[in-house]
Amino acid sequence: MHEQAPDLWDRALGAYLGFAIGDALGATVEFMRPREIAQAFGVHRDMVGGGWLKLPVGQVTDDTTMSLALGDALLAGGSATLQAFVANGDETLVRSIGDSYVRWLKGKPVDCGNTCRRGIQRYLREGTLAGLYNPGDGGNGALMRNMPAVFATLGDDAVFEKLSMAQARLTHHHPFSDSATVGLGQLLRLLLTGADQSASEQWTTQWVEANAVFRFTPYKDRATAYVVDTVQTVLHYFTLHEGFEAAMIATVNQGDDADTTGALLGMLAGARCGASRLPRRWLERLQPATVQAITAQTRGLLDLAQSMHPL
Ligand code: MN
Ligand code: MN
Repeated sequence: MHEQAPDLWDRALGAYLGFAIGDALGATVEFMRPREIAQAFGVHRDMVGGGWLKLPVGQVTDDTTMSLALGDALLAGGSATLQAFVANGDETLVRSIGDSYVRWLKGKPVDCGNTCRRGIQRYLREGTLAGLYNPGDGGNGALMRNMPAVFATLGDDAVFEKLSMAQARLTHHHPFSDSATVGLGQLLRLLLTGADQSASEQWTTQWVEANAVFRFTPYKDRATAYVVDTVQTVLHYFTLHEGFEAAMIATVNQGDDADTTGALLGMLAGARCGASRLPRRWLERLQPATVQAITAQTRGLLDLAQSMHPL
């Protein structure tokens, strides 16, 4: 690997572990209003489990486990299957992603969004790789699980978009879901290269100009699972606070889909600071099996990307 590889490794691992931190921290206050959170916790800042899912301390939810399911499928196929998908649209890879989502759902995950469930059930029943356009598919489920596609395609932006759309369309067919999935993935790719604050702010400004529905200034105080609200919340707090901890606390205390906004904020902020600078008190509370799976998968996905394109 090339000489910047240790930095890339730290940023990529920071993104994935940061994502899991946001998932586990946010799940405690998912579906609560900011005022309810304030009454219950003052400021919610400790990884204590609980929430409507009654989670043990440090347990992640569907956001992280679905991402791991995508990453597992990408790694199982290896570079030959990814290469066939790239070269001639071979369906093997996308089917194996669909199969992995089916296994995930059959494993009785702690939570599953409605659009994800409907899409996985359609794939299982009909074998189709995409549903028709559905105005109700504007949830954040396809966006939330896309990080492994970002990692596996580092070095090739066109393949990144193609793979992201293929994994997303298994369950979500909506223009806002599509543009959010590609957009936040592009921002993550930029951060993984070590972009500084001004470069990422410049990218964000331009992207929001081109995709005006995601404009987040002034912030509307809505953090629902509607992908527009999710992206606005994540970009608002990512831009507002440079430090991981401050950005994360502000995001999850916005409540509502707090595990998913927390996860996506953690992905961007974790890439910005790197795994070595993630807050220890949160990292140490994540379940060890989750940290292990994320670490192994990050290594595997970067190797996969490297085998396609020298990084
Ligand atoms: Mn969740
Ligand atoms: Mn959620």
